[in-house]
Amino acid sequence: MVKYVIGNWKLNPATLTEAAALAHAIGAMANDANCHIGCTPSFVHLAAVREILKHSSVWVGVQDIGAFGATGAFTGDVSAVQAVDLGAKFAIIGHSERRAYHKEDNSLLVKKITQAISAGLAVVLCVGETKSEYEQGETLGVLDNQLSVLNGLTVLQDKFVQDKLLIAYEPVWAIGTGLTPTIDEVVAVHRHIKANLQHLGVDDVCVLYGGSVNDKNAAEFAGCDAVNGALVGGASLKVQSFATIVEAFAQF
Ligand code: PEP
Repeated sequence: MVKYVIGNWKLNPATLTEAAALAHAIGAMANDANCHIGCTPSFVHLAAVREILKHSSVWVGVQDIGAFGATGAFTGDVSAVQAVDLGAKFAIIGHSERRAYHKEDNSLLVKKITQAISAGLAVVLCVGETKSEYEQGETLGVLDNQLSVLNGLTVLQDKFVQDKLLIAYEPVWAIGTGLTPTIDEVVAVHRHIKANLQHLGVDDVCVLYGGSVNDKNAAEFAGCDAVNGALVGGASLKVQSFATIVEAFAQF
């Protein structure tokens, strides 16, 4: 199965000059057919980053999209259609920071997923439990609830759409903290997610792990069959660390 290593740049960097430098560095990374590289600049840097990477195999994506329409009276939104027009190939949807700071819930996320799929974007749907949910053994129930946004999506029966759906398991407590679940825990969760999606008719969905992946621990995650790649936050802004993570996943 092809692997994916996707950088979530979040609200970084501060300047277009820095974003361009990062894009040039990522574009120069080894292009291995076994491992797709992706990056997600902020919307204001999207066009410039895509221009820099347009002759590379790096996928440029976005960190969010508007829920309500392709164009229209939705002040502040950026639509999936506009992102596609600028060359975006995928959208991260339901990141825990969006869920926490913007109060995004399942009903909103269904709309975002629908907008993304209709515009032809691949979707990286983020799911993950909080620290207290983890400690209380509620992880799988929380994930099932978050994955239920896919339940009513009839378009998921389309193989073409299925191929454009990725799930990122990102325990909230592991994001930016340096903490990670054990490999066994990650594998068990990824298997659970794959089984859940299989019930919806999606065979062997690609499941990425995200949460404090770095150049030191990437190889351990990459060595697991159930881990089909990584969604990388902080380390994606450090060129050498990101390159090491990509190499780790390209090896398997
Ligand atoms: C993220 O926010 O998607 C993420 C994985 O962050 P970090 O790698 O910094 O934990």
